[in-house]
Amino acid sequence: MNYDVIIIGGGHNGLVASFYLGKAGLKVLVVEARSIIGGCCITEELIPGFHFSTCANVVWALRPQIIKDMGLVKRGLTVDHRPFLRLMPDGRYLFTGRHLATSAPGAGLAEAQKEVAKFSKADAEALPRWQEFTGRLVKIFGPYLLKNPPHLHEIYAGCKDPEDRRVLDKILTQSMAQIADEFFESDVMRDVGVAADIGDINEVGTGLLFAVTTALGNYSETGDSVFNGFARGGMSRISDLMVQAAKEQGVEFRTSSPVKRVVVTGGVAQGVELVSGEVINARYVASNVDPKRTFQQLVQPQDLDPKFLGRVRKLKSNGAAGLKMHCALSEMLEYKIQPGLTPVQLRESTLLICPDRAYREACWADVVRGDLPKKPIIAGFIPTIFDPSLAPAGKHTFSMYLTWAPVTPRQGSWKERKAEMAENVFRVLDQHTTNFRKALIDFILFTPEDLDKRNFLTDGNIHHLDATPSQILWQRPLEEVANYRTTIPGFYLCGSGSHPWGEVSGAPGHNGAQAILADWKR
Ligand SMILES: Cc1cc2nc3c(=O)[nH]c(=O)nc-3n(C[C@H](O)[C@H](O)[C@H](O)COP(=O)(O)OP(=O)(O)OC[C@H]3O[C@@H](n4cnc5c(N)ncnc54)[C@H](O)[C@@H]3O)c2cc1C
Repeated sequence: MNYDVIIIGGGHNGLVASFYLGKAGLKVLVVEARSIIGGCCITEELIPGFHFSTCANVVWALRPQIIKDMGLVKRGLTVDHRPFLRLMPDGRYLFTGRHLATSAPGAGLAEAQKEVAKFSKADAEALPRWQEFTGRLVKIFGPYLLKNPPHLHEIYAGCKDPEDRRVLDKILTQSMAQIADEFFESDVMRDVGVAADIGDINEVGTGLLFAVTTALGNYSETGDSVFNGFARGGMSRISDLMVQAAKEQGVEFRTSSPVKRVVVTGGVAQGVELVSGEVINARYVASNVDPKRTFQQLVQPQDLDPKFLGRVRKLKSNGAAGLKMHCALSEMLEYKIQPGLTPVQLRESTLLICPDRAYREACWADVVRGDLPKKPIIAGFIPTIFDPSLAPAGKHTFSMYLTWAPVTPRQGSWKERKAEMAENVFRVLDQHTTNFRKALIDFILFTPEDLDKRNFLTDGNIHHLDATPSQILWQRPLEEVANYRTTIPGFYLCGSGSHPWGEVSGAPGHNGAQAILADWKR
């Protein structure tokens, strides 16, 4: 059977790409190594009776244009928006409501100011200026999310307002820490870039990373707000609905079919060979797999320029890792917290445990030395509050994303040190809850090693590749392959290692498909 396009990998970006290609009338096959489709956008029964979104938990970057084109809401996608609750060791808290998460600039300002004023009146007064600043970031970077990655000079040229240019100068020449210091004075607000997962906030260039994530979380191509919360049914619901939409466009799927290599004849991609030995032909091939794995494992070295391959080897994917911990709970957590919030506000909140910049810096310092963080930064979610069907009646799922951890510990192996890492997390939770250990039925911790083996992520990298200033925009993954086309004619990229970067955004899948369609028409 010959196809127009074969997509290697049924992650959500592969699904999005397949949809747009199928819609344009191409005959498309998606080949997936695992028995389930969705890649990192999946939900599994990891503990008997308890269903967890194994990797991604929260929908916060999914492009509204893609939701519309694939009819995901019409097909039944429901996302419950979430508030955020930042816990302090002394029981104080910063609660920012749902409107800030879905954040049209200005929305919920008065309420947010009231909360921030508990820590600093000056910071509360600075919030409108901060919202104006982030609003400009969204305006500057948002329009590029569903396009080929722009070079800096194009972004500058696109800024007609001199104030936009000043904002661009600032994020390119300052660290996130310097930027936050310019706006805020309290410890908690000086750590304001917390949600962006951008590494060492004292490094110049983190301002740029903050800008791209801010655009991902807030820019809307359609005018509909960007979802920020939990998909009912878990993240698999998104992948399942995407499969439904792609199948309607004639896309075919094969699971449990790992690809061994891309077949290249006469320098041109011609199809794929599966591990089983079966060869499937296609005019074009696109890889949803991370760039290092794609070029180092799925393409034979003789099909690549050795210098290019050398540059691929040097791509950074092991700066620091995120860990994922899933817990089955017999009862809802109770927080050690000053009064003031309703039970509903407490239950629905995403917990953030990172009280100030010093805590963040200490965690980062542990990890760059290769040590396990003694006090990990925790983002905790309780999806069963929104969808009780994920656990047995009355019980809860509690998932945590833990930043950061070393990709490989300096001493011992992850296997040997997993229990110690879990204990570090539990100790932090003991400080902030009265009943965590009592409520805990069972847990599972995914290390970078586990994510590499289970989800085929090089170094367990959740974004396929580190998001660093030299590995985003027109340089993601490398300048010569940053527009979704590779050095092999007929072979394309469509995964998170491409522009704009990781997360469940669908953007690299959309953009990869557009590159294929543009070449198809030639
Ligand atoms: C622990 C963790 C937490 C995260 N949290 C969030 C979050 O809360 N919100 C968010 O938006 N994002 C989150 N992310 C990031 C997000 O999940 C990923 O960036 C995104 O899902 C990647 O999508 P993708 O389609 O590009 O690639 P993937 O999902 O990695 O898909 C690639 C697919 O290729 C398949 N494959 C690999 N090798 C082969 C082969 N040889 N043959 C055939 N198939 C192959 C894989 O099995 C996989 O299905 C998280 C990621 C992780 C790991």
